[in-house]
Amino acid sequence: MTNNPKMQNPSEMLANLRNSFNSGLTRPLKFRERQLNNIIKLVEENTNLILDALRDDLHKSTQESMVCEIEILKNDALNMIHNLSDWSKPRSVEKDLVNIMDKVQILPEPYGVVLVVGAWNYPLTLALSPLIGAIAAGNCVIVKPSELSPATAKIIAELLPKYLDTNCYKVFLGGPAETQQLLQHRFDYIFYTGSTRVGAIVAQCAAKNLTPTTLELGGKSPCYLDSTVDMDIAAARIFWGKALNSGQTCIAPDYVLCSQEVEKKFIEAFKKAQKTQFGEDMKDSPDYCRIINNNHFNRLVGLLEGQEIAHGGHHDASQRYIEPTICVNVDPNSPLMKDEIFGPILPIIRVNNAAEAISFINAREKPLALYVFSNDKSLVNLFEEQTSSGGVCVNDTIMHFACDALPFGGVGNSGLGAYHGKFSFDTFSHQKPILEKSIDKFGEMLQSIRYAPYSEGKIKALSLLSRKRKLPIPREYISHILLVVFGFFVCYLYFMIMGKHC
Ligand code: NAD
Repeated sequence: MTNNPKMQNPSEMLANLRNSFNSGLTRPLKFRERQLNNIIKLVEENTNLILDALRDDLHKSTQESMVCEIEILKNDALNMIHNLSDWSKPRSVEKDLVNIMDKVQILPEPYGVVLVVGAWNYPLTLALSPLIGAIAAGNCVIVKPSELSPATAKIIAELLPKYLDTNCYKVFLGGPAETQQLLQHRFDYIFYTGSTRVGAIVAQCAAKNLTPTTLELGGKSPCYLDSTVDMDIAAARIFWGKALNSGQTCIAPDYVLCSQEVEKKFIEAFKKAQKTQFGEDMKDSPDYCRIINNNHFNRLVGLLEGQEIAHGGHHDASQRYIEPTICVNVDPNSPLMKDEIFGPILPIIRVNNAAEAISFINAREKPLALYVFSNDKSLVNLFEEQTSSGGVCVNDTIMHFACDALPFGGVGNSGLGAYHGKFSFDTFSHQKPILEKSIDKFGEMLQSIRYAPYSEGKIKALSLLSRKRKLPIPREYISHILLVVFGFFVCYLYFMIMGKHC
């Protein structure tokens, strides 16, 4: 592994990884388990180094780093270790009459050599969480962390080779130019996290080699709020989702949709939440992150120009600090409402009712997350059924990300594919269908029905055998019922024989 970008040779790296993959090194589950355990060791033995790097890059607090980066990775790896043997087994599927005598299965197989490109906002998680899925599924991997979080990229490049097999897992450092260089090569799978703009570039490069991709992108995640909720609780949860990582979270609530009456109450409750969570002056709080770099800081401050600020607005370029800020009377066509904000600014768009909010959402690109705060179940159903988004979280923000029984990913402009938990394992596995038939005279007698010479009789028989039928009882109970019938049959035989002997 090379840490100096000038010394990195993508062709050599790929050739080495392809050799390792083809040698079958990553196939045994024990090997994968060892690597996953080593990732747990990596984060446990280097927690302080990691905390320092995240503080250097984003001024991340210990709690945010522990919860959103370190613990999440440990649990990710543990989840894989606990389920690896189960998830990697071939699974039997439903059979039709035509295949009743055959073995019909799906075998998850690793793709081969995978490229993981990470983003800077959760720089450790977004590089290592896909890596964990790719390792579990048996792939070799090149990880390309974001150059915009250099301290974390550096420790990833230093630590990974100390803990993982360097013939199978490598780190490649660099920015857009180096990533473009990597993307000219053929990978078997590309997992990209970042902006929609760059996602399109990655997809174009992948298409040249017909490489399958997962694109974890962003977008403007709306948050609808009505008057049926406890406003203090709702505002505390929305504030938390917006202040987390200083709003630099792909699923941060991007803007609020509510009525004028709700808006007033929400702003007051939001101010209260800020004071309770971060004290009188957020700038003094050790728990509040900073904007990643000057470009993003200037972009965000620029978005405030000409806006009516109802709360916050304080910023300090020397620290790249921006206070959580609410803008009201926002023109839906203003720059603030054009692209994902990705910072602690929260515009409020007034709507008269849920139907108006749904029209507003549906007139725009499909978001990565949709938040609804309401105690009205029928209204919540309306949002769930009449809008499309990567995910939905009701009466909270962000927390659906932490539920790894749910797939995490976007739809349309917010992404392609999903991961987390078993979905990660499946994402990095080709689901290979396998049909196994016996080859003997009896089987052949049944199969020969499809051979020429064709006839009316054969057509009828084939159509009967292949017809889809709705079973009167669920399929999963059939084996139980057959077992019970068989049991009765055995008992019947037993009593018949015993009866004859007595
Ligand atoms: P970005 O697209 O600028 O960069 C992401 C990665 O792409 C980096 O590793 C970077 O080096 C590389 N890259 C940048 N320009 C490139 C180019 N021209 N060619 C090839 N590679 C290039 O994104 P970012 O600024 O790091 O992250 C912010 C975006 O990512 C936001 O839109 C956010 O919503 C999204 N995001 C999504 C998720 C998710 O899970 N869906 C998570 C985090 C961030």
